[in-house]
Amino acid sequence: MKVLIYSAQEHEKPFFEKANESFGCELSYVSESLSRDSADLVKGVDAVCCFVLDKLDAGVLEALAKNGVRFIALRSAGYDHVDLKAAERLKIIVTNVPTYSPSAVAEHAVMLVLTLARKFLSSQKHFEKNNYSLVGLLGKGLKGLAVGVVGTGNIGLSFAHIMKGFGCQLLGYDPYPSDACKALGMKYVEFDELLRLSDIISLHCLLNENTRHIINAKAVEKMKKGVILVNTSRGAVVDTKAVMDGLDSKKIGCFGLDVYEFEKGIFFRDHDDNHIQDKLFLKLREMDNVVVTGHQAFFTEEALRNIARTSLENIFKYSQGKIQNRVA
Ligand code: NAD
Repeated sequence: MKVLIYSAQEHEKPFFEKANESFGCELSYVSESLSRDSADLVKGVDAVCCFVLDKLDAGVLEALAKNGVRFIALRSAGYDHVDLKAAERLKIIVTNVPTYSPSAVAEHAVMLVLTLARKFLSSQKHFEKNNYSLVGLLGKGLKGLAVGVVGTGNIGLSFAHIMKGFGCQLLGYDPYPSDACKALGMKYVEFDELLRLSDIISLHCLLNENTRHIINAKAVEKMKKGVILVNTSRGAVVDTKAVMDGLDSKKIGCFGLDVYEFEKGIFFRDHDDNHIQDKLFLKLREMDNVVVTGHQAFFTEEALRNIARTSLENIFKYSQGKIQNRVA
């Protein structure tokens, strides 16, 4: 199988080369993202492997289909960047890597919670000025706090496990409650109830038409004053402007985000030589009660190993007429 890997980063190649020892695909890498302009690179290729940066809208999928591509292996769990209906219409099979490392993302979410709760960034800023006083650094202990988990799938469950270890009470909202979460002692409640009762809210749902801006101005209004909000799911699950207003009014105590609604063009690159223009993002970056990471929650060695192995396994199985991890 000839496989073209789009948006390939140098750090991924060793993981793909190692995993490929078991599958023997013919791999080629391009650093360019998949778009209408770069879709012609697929000539003569059997399958493409794509990242969240790759644009898989109807136009791009049509260009791939025109060039004979019938298989896309996403190397992500999320697939909100794919026009699934167009893929089905064009008879393109799309697979993902559903559980490459739920704990990697869950641990990152916990890191954001702790960083915010213990004012870690503020303390580092003080230290840079040789200020070792504790003024302004009063933290919040997690034990006994109510943690609301929105989306209790693989990552939500892993997050709940860790927070239970801290002695938190677990609240959950998900249209499909999980027995494993219930077994941990999670109480499922309506969304508004979760907003009202939670001291910490962590977002772990997928992005779709029901969850886009699930955290909007109305939701912010219903939250407990001073809530810690953390988003490691997808940027557009949050209406960032509404959250910014909530931070300004102090309704939201602090906000940790690994994903940003308008992250395309900002994350996954070095902006040393040009300036970021996004005013909302720049304001978030300046705030002492906001922690931003650049879509790196997944980024561990274990996750990269699993992503490479499962992506290639999905392709290899396809070459044998078997389909696994299909999303379209
Ligand atoms: P999952 O499919 O196991 O869980 C998603 C959960 O969301 C499911 O339980 C589903 O029932 C629930 N859900 C569906 N509609 C909902 C709604 N309206 N309200 C609340 N919950 C709803 O997926 P996962 O592996 O746990 O991943 C969750 C998301 O995390 C992914 O879709 C992806 O967007 C994101 N993610 C981010 C990173 C990162 O690096 N930041 C890495 C991996 C995944």
